[in-house]
Amino acid sequence: SLKKLTLTEPGSFNKAKINILFTILIFTLIKLLIAGYISYINDQTLQLYRALVMFTIGVILLKLLLFNKNYTHIIAQIIVWTGLLFIWSNVFIFTQDINIITLQSVFMIILSSFYLLGARYGIVYSLLSISPLILYLIKGNSLPIITVEPDQLASPGFEIIVVLSLITFVIIHYLYHEAFKLNVAEKELLNDQLKQAVEEANLAAESKSDFLSTMSHELRTPLNSVIGMTELMLDNPYNKEQAENLKILNFSAVNLHSLINDILDYNKLGADKLNLEAINVNLYQLMNDICLGLRMKAKEKGLELRLNIDEILKEKPVITDPTRITQIIYNLVGNAIKFTNKGSVSVSLKVIKVDDDNLNIRFSIIDTGIGISEDNQQSIFEPFTQASTSTTRNFGGTGLGLAIVKRLLLLFNTTIHLESAAGTGSNFFFNISFPLQKEQPVSNSVAPELNYDLEDIRVLVAEDNPMNRLLLKKVFFKWNNEPEFAENGMEAVEKLKSHSYDIVLMDIHMPVMDGYEATKVIRNMSDPEKANIPVIALTASVSNNLRDKIREAGMNDYVYKPFNSKELYSKIKSMALQSEKKPSEMLNTKVS
Ligand code: ADP
Repeated sequence: SLKKLTLTEPGSFNKAKINILFTILIFTLIKLLIAGYISYINDQTLQLYRALVMFTIGVILLKLLLFNKNYTHIIAQIIVWTGLLFIWSNVFIFTQDINIITLQSVFMIILSSFYLLGARYGIVYSLLSISPLILYLIKGNSLPIITVEPDQLASPGFEIIVVLSLITFVIIHYLYHEAFKLNVAEKELLNDQLKQAVEEANLAAESKSDFLSTMSHELRTPLNSVIGMTELMLDNPYNKEQAENLKILNFSAVNLHSLINDILDYNKLGADKLNLEAINVNLYQLMNDICLGLRMKAKEKGLELRLNIDEILKEKPVITDPTRITQIIYNLVGNAIKFTNKGSVSVSLKVIKVDDDNLNIRFSIIDTGIGISEDNQQSIFEPFTQASTSTTRNFGGTGLGLAIVKRLLLLFNTTIHLESAAGTGSNFFFNISFPLQKEQPVSNSVAPELNYDLEDIRVLVAEDNPMNRLLLKKVFFKWNNEPEFAENGMEAVEKLKSHSYDIVLMDIHMPVMDGYEATKVIRNMSDPEKANIPVIALTASVSNNLRDKIREAGMNDYVYKPFNSKELYSKIKSMALQSEKKPSEMLNTKVS
């Protein structure tokens, strides 16, 4: 029965408790039999009755233990209380002294109460078991007697009981120690399993994040062609209907593109793969540029977009990451416009502290839109969460924007705050401390004329994707230019060896030889004119150390795909115009 009982018990300490209880009961029953027998022989009726009563209790408890393991606590309580009664009655009624059996019983109470009932009961019952001894010793009216052999229990019964008690102590300690060892081993095993599970979970999360990054990245390349082609066709549509269809196509493609960017960014932010760049930025200029595009959006809804920037920012360029600042403002102002049907949206940048090295700015984006109820003000910053289930239906969106803003602002060591109530508009604000730019940069850049003509510029494009080649061909055609194409880095190097060009557009990921490698080969060419040719990287990657990699390879600048044709045009024009400069100088003077 005991085996069955312990087999079904999973916890090592509970198993030990059952075994300890069993040991105590069996040994106590044997001791009581001996005590009863000896009392009977020596006509000690009271002792005999006490032994009989205790024996009966012991048998009942043993039965109860083997019947159901859930009674261990109550059995342990009864054992301890019976033991206490035994000690008190021994000291004050039966033996009226302190003998070795009483002392052993005290140890037994201390042991069993701590091991079977826990520390609190252990302390209380230990005090209850030792207090009759202390009381007896300090009673004072007669000399206390401490004996080894109790007069009332004849030999050899007494010796047998003492030995049996000593054996019980050893067994109890052994059982408890084994349980302790087993428990530690179980915990270690559990720890190992936990570590392994965490490692597996991390690996799974990493591969999920890698998968998402690769997928988003791969999706952007064909999307580049879709957006570019639609824009090209929109310049010259066959009829009104086609123009409308193309606008819808363009709108959806641009939306899809921003969604892919959001997923890619959110994924990177989650995997801590995004670092801020540190570039000289004129925030006054940057904010005006950002709001230029957004103002059109606001106008379409009949809203006014106001921009209030502290004038001091005109003269105090800072060092920051303009791409991420743009992303934050775009998201917040985009939301403000989206969720406002009448009134205005205002963006303000107030300098709240300025010293020799730093500039602390409060950014506020205030709208007069639908507002956000207090209940939703926390949750909207969680990914894929919107204030209400009808938001997507009425306004679109995925609920990723604010989650990205929140995480991006963490990179700037700041947090976003919101003041809003349903129906009364919203105010999103945050403070950022920017290091000030020490020396004013000497602007060497040549302002490109925007008459979209690249007729005299000889361009070599290295691009492996045929759709992108076609798109670039059409875009360049509009600029009166017919670039030469190479399908990989190796081909580009060969072409440059045998022909002369003014500028190279270099895709980064290409078969045979990638863009980095090809640029390195070009920079080592013996002809200084060819070795110093401006190279602009074309990339769909937003890797955090892209700028370093580009600089390392000797490229002058980069353009993200899907490229903005105005940006590409300006960069080609200004690069080609200052092509006599060294490439490293050109990258350093670039401001955004
Ligand atoms: P999305 O705009 O794609 O839904 P966001 O994370 O940018 O995702 O915003 C989450 C939600 O927060 C929105 O769906 C909207 O319910 C609420 N919200 C954000 N900005 C505003 C605002 N300016 N006014 C009212 N509600 C807003």
